[in-house]
Amino acid sequence: MLRRTSLKRKTPLKSRRRSTGPDQHTVDTVLERDQHSCGVCGYGLSGTRSVDWSIQHRRPRRQGGDPRPDVNLPSNLFAVHGDGTSGCHGRIESHRAEAYSNGWLLHDGDVPSQEAICHAVHGWCYLTDDGRISYSPPPVLVGEEIR
Ligand SMILES: [Zn+2]
Repeated sequence: MLRRTSLKRKTPLKSRRRSTGPDQHTVDTVLERDQHSCGVCGYGLSGTRSVDWSIQHRRPRRQGGDPRPDVNLPSNLFAVHGDGTSGCHGRIESHRAEAYSNGWLLHDGDVPSQEAICHAVHGWCYLTDDGRISYSPPPVLVGEEIR
């Protein structure tokens, strides 16, 4: 007969923070699409995520949990140098007019896959929900009615 040795969790539930960012598969997809380069300046990424480079949300997440399913899809994400205050990510935050006109930042009502981006690696293009680029607006896979 099998005996249970312990019902205690090795990691207490309370110590687990709920992640609001993209999962690892999505991060890998974005990095591959962007050729491991920064979408703002085009130079290669190296070092540690969240320090030397980060994944930018074009349309910022709403506070307190964003229910919209396209928040963490590749269409809303691209890789940039730095974090929120440094590097190319910092440039986005401190030059917001430029960032909006380049599609690096989107407004809250925008559907990311339908908004073109000036991407340093790909040029002007659309980022699809499934991790590709397109030079014409891709079909909306995730309904914008889900808001
Ligand atoms: Zn850069």
